Amino acid sequence: MHDESGRSVATATHAVVIAGGGPTGLMLAGELALARVDVAIVERRESQELAGSRAGGLHARTIEVLDQRGIADRFLSQGKVAQVAAFAQIPLDISDFPTRHNYGLALWQNRIERILADWASELSVPIYRGREVTGFAQDDTGVDVELEGGRSLRAKYLVGCDGGRSLVRKKAGIDFPGWDPSISHLIAEVAMAEEPPWGLRRDEKGIYALGKLEDGKRVRVVLREEHVGQGDEPTLHDLREALIALYGTDYGVHDATWISRFTDMVRQAASYRNRRVLLAGDAAHVHSPAGGQGLNIGVQDAVNLGWKLAQVVHGTSPESLLDTYHTERHPVGARALRNTMAATALSRGDERTEALRETMSELLRMDEPRKRYAAMMSGLDIHYDLGEGHPLLGRRMPDLDLVTESGPQRVFTLLHDARPVLLHLGEPGAFDITPWADRVRRIDARYTGVWELPVFGAVSAPTTVLIRPDGHVAWAGGGTDRGLRDALTTWFGPPSSSS
Ligand SMILES: Cc1cc2nc3c(=O)[nH]c(=O)nc-3n(C[C@H](O)[C@H](O)[C@H](O)COP(=O)(O)OP(=O)(O)OC[C@H]3O[C@@H](n4cnc5c(N)ncnc54)[C@H](O)[C@@H]3O)c2cc1C
Repeated sequence: MHDESGRSVATATHAVVIAGGGPTGLMLAGELALARVDVAIVERRESQELAGSRAGGLHARTIEVLDQRGIADRFLSQGKVAQVAAFAQIPLDISDFPTRHNYGLALWQNRIERILADWASELSVPIYRGREVTGFAQDDTGVDVELEGGRSLRAKYLVGCDGGRSLVRKKAGIDFPGWDPSISHLIAEVAMAEEPPWGLRRDEKGIYALGKLEDGKRVRVVLREEHVGQGDEPTLHDLREALIALYGTDYGVHDATWISRFTDMVRQAASYRNRRVLLAGDAAHVHSPAGGQGLNIGVQDAVNLGWKLAQVVHGTSPESLLDTYHTERHPVGARALRNTMAATALSRGDERTEALRETMSELLRMDEPRKRYAAMMSGLDIHYDLGEGHPLLGRRMPDLDLVTESGPQRVFTLLHDARPVLLHLGEPGAFDITPWADRVRRIDARYTGVWELPVFGAVSAPTTVLIRPDGHVAWAGGGTDRGLRDALTTWFGPPSSSS
């Protein structure tokens, strides 16, 4: 058995094996490869082709993290920029937010995956395609990953990016508490003999919609089911029945290229880590597609985990760094579970829920609530709790236009290689970080503009900022280096003794 580049799988070892090459697994593989970790993906699908369109786009923070790696343009050039943030279908405009990407991007998941797969391929990530992870056994030094057909891979760490039904999560014995579905929808791509009424409708049980696919002829159908449906493989007959129940006719539906079902089930892994096994993306959290958050949160999980896992693999940081992945990302997933539950409840069209939705709409038209909810749905407000300090601490670093010795430079450009950066905006040469110079890049620059964060507003200008590879601020100082050594050690390992 061989991977895509012809390497034999029977005996292969890797530092990290990722189960699942969906958006989360591909992003994580890219992050690890940038950090020079020997990483491989095992993917059940034979190719990156995806049945059906699934996720419809990217939110602002995801576009920012892709920009931090220098690949945002690949997505922007294929999609359609739009104001896509919404809560319970109530639109939330982010065009006044202080970010270069004050919008979202409409782009189907199959395109997103293909772009990510090309990036992973450029970074020489091997993908064992058409292979399924069937089990694993972990010991003190690594994990034996079993593949179907009796083959295995040896890795120091295994990451389950294998979707909502994650085998890795189940075999790791990680609980997946939450709530069973209260509603289900059929989703399909079909042809129709008659032109149907386009657009979204709402009845007392929820929403349903008919929309044109990209070719302008075929139809994307999303139909609320009368009762919670079971299983992934509904039939054309189920689709006809649901159309007749909701529209009184099936519009001559035929030629379905994809029929599936999604629900509002909400569940989250109790722990994102069991020793040498980690979970990311849908493997760690599932919820309804309301608000279009799943893929976005998965990609951002990957960006939070990648550099931490790389440092642990390289031995520059202790294993305990991996616990910060759960501490930081579990609350983000939990928040998405909660807001999708609320959105599903608000999607019903009975009079009382209608009144509640109108009340919520009124609220969200006010500036402060609009900003807060828009920042939540677009991911721009994520704040990891790194303790007391400057408001930037734990928040995303703004993409400032800097002036450096080598000319104008954007902050996000400094993060392209996924390495930490100490950005010093004061007197050049201050703050000696020689013991971390092998890991942390030091940049002296000038910046005279304002510092502004979404929702939070203007903040005082720091003199020096320590930026993690995921773009979050690990330390911000106003002229002294108090706390800098501790922050460098916490996030990037102890000082190197050779320097
Ligand atoms: C109708 C619908 C609309 C959605 N809309 C949006 C949206 O607008 N925005 C948004 O952000 N999200 C949306 N989502 C959610 C989004 O599709 C998921 O959150 C996203 O695909 C999760 O990515 P992932 O890589 O974590 O998991 P997946 O995409 O599920 O990828 C898992 C991968 O693992 C592989 N795999 C599984 N088991 C194994 C195994 N044992 N061995 C090897 N490989 C394995 C699978 O083949 C798959 O490629 C939507 C979902 C649905 C259903």
